[in-house]
Amino acid sequence: MKNILGANDEIAALNRQMFAQSGVVVMNLMGSPGSGKTTLLEKTLSRLAEKIKIAVIEGDLFTARDAERIERTGVDVIQINTAGGCHLDAPMIQNACASLNLAETQLLIVENVGNLVCPAEFDIGENFKATVLSITEGDDKPLKYPLIFKESAAVVLNKIDLLDFTNFNLQSARTDLSTLHPTIKIFETSCTRGTGLDAWTDWLLAKVVR
Ligand code: MG
Ligand code: ZN
Repeated sequence: MKNILGANDEIAALNRQMFAQSGVVVMNLMGSPGSGKTTLLEKTLSRLAEKIKIAVIEGDLFTARDAERIERTGVDVIQINTAGGCHLDAPMIQNACASLNLAETQLLIVENVGNLVCPAEFDIGENFKATVLSITEGDDKPLKYPLIFKESAAVVLNKIDLLDFTNFNLQSARTDLSTLHPTIKIFETSCTRGTGLDAWTDWLLAKVVR
């Protein structure tokens, strides 16, 4: 495992260098299957794609379903199928970037494979990570999967409209997140209702336009 991560880190460093030279900001978007990563992406693109040039890399085990959804927004998208692999690694991103015009891209969003564990262990050369945690997954997830939340600059608490239908304790989730990672930014969104998205896209835009 150490050797695998060492080889990955070498390519991740090359990716980071390539992104810096192209002037592109890269977000690694993570979260469980069904947390709403692709829906958040669709809503994010519809708000930001007219302001900045965005490209997307979609990581998925087998299908191109998410990439097809992103394509409909008019944004350039590259699909990576991991053929069962449970995370994206730096060489996959290096290969995918050969098909993108990075010099003309300001923000590259990588939707990682749905998983709260190993995507957080593999550096892909991104500038920052963000994790989507949906209300229906339970408020215990930050403490059960601490690495991904320690590594993420932001967490999006999605499906907030379902709060009253679950036993999710928002205060304890916020406390656990802040204990694990004191500077983490916490957003509360409902992507299907369209609430809370402005704060998220304002934060993201500020990462790109300085
Ligand atoms: Mg998805
Ligand atoms: Zn994995």
